[in-house]
Amino acid sequence: MANPPRVTNSGHPPGAYPPLEDPRLPETKSTAAPSEPPAPVVPPPPPSVAAFVDIEPRQFKGIAGSPGVAVGPAIVLGDIRASFVRRHIASAQIPHELERITQAVIDAKRTLRAHDSLMPALVREANAILDAYDLMLSDPTLHERIERKVRSEKKCAEWAVSEASEEIVALFGPREASDRDAYIVERRHDIEFVGERLLKALVGDAADHALRLREPAIVIARDLSPADTASMVREPVLGFVTCVGTRTSHTSIMARAIEIPCVVGVADAVTHIRTGDMVIVDGLTGLVQVHPSEEAIREAKQRSAQHLAFARRLLAARHMPASTRDGVALDLKANVELPAEAILAVDHGARGIGLYRTEFLYIDRTSQPSEQEQYEVYRAIVEAVSPHPTTLRTFDIGGDKFASTFQLPAEMNPALGLRAVRLALKQPDVFLTQLRAMIRASAHGDVRIMIPMVSSVHEMREVRRLMHHAIEQVRARGHAFAEHIPLGMMIEVPAAAVMADVFAREAEFFSLGTNDLVQYALAIDRGSESLASQASPFDPAILRMIRFVATAARDRSIPVALCGAMASDPLAACLLVGLGLRELSMEAAAIPEIKEAIRRISVPEAEALAHQALGCESADAVEQLLARELAPRLIDLLAGLADDVAT
Ligand code: PEP
Ligand code: MG
Repeated sequence: MANPPRVTNSGHPPGAYPPLEDPRLPETKSTAAPSEPPAPVVPPPPPSVAAFVDIEPRQFKGIAGSPGVAVGPAIVLGDIRASFVRRHIASAQIPHELERITQAVIDAKRTLRAHDSLMPALVREANAILDAYDLMLSDPTLHERIERKVRSEKKCAEWAVSEASEEIVALFGPREASDRDAYIVERRHDIEFVGERLLKALVGDAADHALRLREPAIVIARDLSPADTASMVREPVLGFVTCVGTRTSHTSIMARAIEIPCVVGVADAVTHIRTGDMVIVDGLTGLVQVHPSEEAIREAKQRSAQHLAFARRLLAARHMPASTRDGVALDLKANVELPAEAILAVDHGARGIGLYRTEFLYIDRTSQPSEQEQYEVYRAIVEAVSPHPTTLRTFDIGGDKFASTFQLPAEMNPALGLRAVRLALKQPDVFLTQLRAMIRASAHGDVRIMIPMVSSVHEMREVRRLMHHAIEQVRARGHAFAEHIPLGMMIEVPAAAVMADVFAREAEFFSLGTNDLVQYALAIDRGSESLASQASPFDPAILRMIRFVATAARDRSIPVALCGAMASDPLAACLLVGLGLRELSMEAAAIPEIKEAIRRISVPEAEALAHQALGCESADAVEQLLARELAPRLIDLLAGLADDVAT
């Protein structure tokens, strides 16, 4: 069960296929951006057979990143063909569209020549290539097709260019069959290149604005930055598919937070899916279907309705106490990345914030957030969840969380480099600014400060020294703050886990970050989709560390929580209770489901299961044990579907 299903309550309707035509005229842009110099090729032979269009249903298996099922047309990001609206034009607009195409040819040729001047003088061959492209941009066959589409089919310039070049490419036959012939591959590449130059000249800068959707759509991308994913809150995104990523990569974490179904790790997604293709994204199973049959669409819509009904039912019970069958209370808190999620957390029955990933405040901006800006954000979150506590984690920048405002060195292994607390201690002014903002927020509720990626006692001592310094600064400036602010640490590096008894004297609380603990203990990049199935938090090595940390915390009477993605897995949550944990933090949407799961098990049962799991020799053996002992009673939660929904 590496990727068990999750509960969600997506606010997005399961998508109907919206019309792609848009009667609005886009702004005409004719400045083409420079791009890579072309590969050495020569013009293609004239087309001679009818267009071939591949609309066979296809299915891809990826990793279920965020639950829910979405159906709709694809929009491929980073693909120039995704950056315009396919619209029909009125007859009166035909001359205008043809004029735009003529201008685009001129602009595209100018851009190609601009590249020419960038090429080394000795690359004589380049001129021949550019001459060839120059000719192709005016190729009569291409232009006849384009013109026909504008005049007879009344298609806008971008649509006509895109379709005409796609049709010519299709004349070479299906890709799989022809990819063995180098000549054909090159000719196809030529046509695609020329079509793209023309489209770039027509669309201009609009292509660079990644996510601005006019219609509900399923986003297909190689990868998505945290900013892209966050912007999906504003856009009518039904779901998304990425080529890279795993369940614990930040794209998936964000998708679950904003409750959009997603499948990640579909290596060929951007190659095989085109803008406008009908797509089904099944975030429960990790399957992506392209050009699905009517029957498959009906089924997907049924599954989507069942999932939404399931989530609604769980949500209705969200304020019931979180306790096991024998009445032992658990503390379920929320992980948040965006301030707006604090309200969502309360709404889903969270008893506070167990992890606020403050690094999202630093990402995708040109300057660092000021103390005042941070203070206002932290204060808003603290007030939203009060009287429950808010755990503010200091920035975890570096690794897979890149922030352009930090001057990070280029490292061979960023995950093992200057990341999180290491970066904070190297840039104490930036760290002190954040600490002051957090300390000031403590005047408005129960604030705890948590340090990520601690691997040595020295780091914790240094952090505490800076914390005292920040408190003195806040005091000197006359701001209010709480008398005592607990200072805790993440346990997400194996060194910290095996030294937990020692760290328990330095930190006032622990939170196990299993996403990174798995990465570092098993030496598997958390972003590696090819190794994702082996990066299991059920590995006995991980379970033993969790058990050791829980015991060390209990012996020293300090609180211990777990805030990695495994907390939101119903099977894992039951096991974690057996390993001694009583506090879990997860994406808000998963809280109702986890409450329901733990209500179905008693502590002695969970402990017996944990005891067996600790004795297993592999993650597979643990997963089999859980499937045998627990899955039957959690089967509805694992499927993520209600079975009695009328459609
Ligand atoms: C973790 O590593 O488990 C964790 C919760 O932190 P993040 O996912 O932000 O690295
Ligand atoms: Mg981490």
